Amino acid sequence: MSDLAHILDAGVSGAAAISAGALTYAVRVPSCSWLAPSVFRGSDTRPAIALTFDDGPSESTPELLEILSRYRAPASFFQCGANVRRLPGVAREVAAAGHEIGNHTDSHALLALKSSSFIYRELAAAQESIEHSTGVRPRYFRAPYGVRWFGLGTVQQRLGLHGVMWSTIALDWKRQTPAVVSRLLRGSSRGAILCLHDGRVLESRPDIGVTLQTVRELLPKLMERGFHFEKVTDILCPTKN
Ligand SMILES: [Zn+2]
Repeated sequence: MSDLAHILDAGVSGAAAISAGALTYAVRVPSCSWLAPSVFRGSDTRPAIALTFDDGPSESTPELLEILSRYRAPASFFQCGANVRRLPGVAREVAAAGHEIGNHTDSHALLALKSSSFIYRELAAAQESIEHSTGVRPRYFRAPYGVRWFGLGTVQQRLGLHGVMWSTIALDWKRQTPAVVSRLLRGSSRGAILCLHDGRVLESRPDIGVTLQTVRELLPKLMERGFHFEKVTDILCPTKN
């Protein structure tokens, strides 16, 4: 995201009312909801953690499903419409295994500087493809690169979507397994929402070896510490038992 600062600077000249610093905060900081309502962590009433996976489905998603089923760990998958059309059978497998499916736009578009109609088309196309392939209409949306933009809030509302960010992002696309595992262990607390990736943007046959090995090592460690896993829907509910 090295060019993001540049993009945001351009955004500020268009919307000169707020400072570059405030705009960067609003666009990027997971706990900020200025541009679109979103949550970044769940209820702390239980020792629960939400595992979330972005950028799928990919050819390696079934291997991840196997690991999750070994630990009976439900998870949430924020899928891209284009990947769902490429691998509809894998998208169906995710839903059939009882996991939750969310919307991660159609083409993994960076929403900064885009018009409301572009944002609507991206989110609506993903809703259609996901529903067509899996029978499930997503209720949650995660913005690619964690970047929200003006107009997204209204689009989310129109489509009945709630924004979900994360309390810790794994950096599993650029770091090695030991670093990713220890980062996620440090970020694991009651109600944490962890963000990993079962795809790499729209790449076909991406190498997600670090993600798979991280999940293999992380899940037993978290269970030893007394945590269990919940889907996004459940972890957001303070009264769930
Ligand atoms: Zn993504």
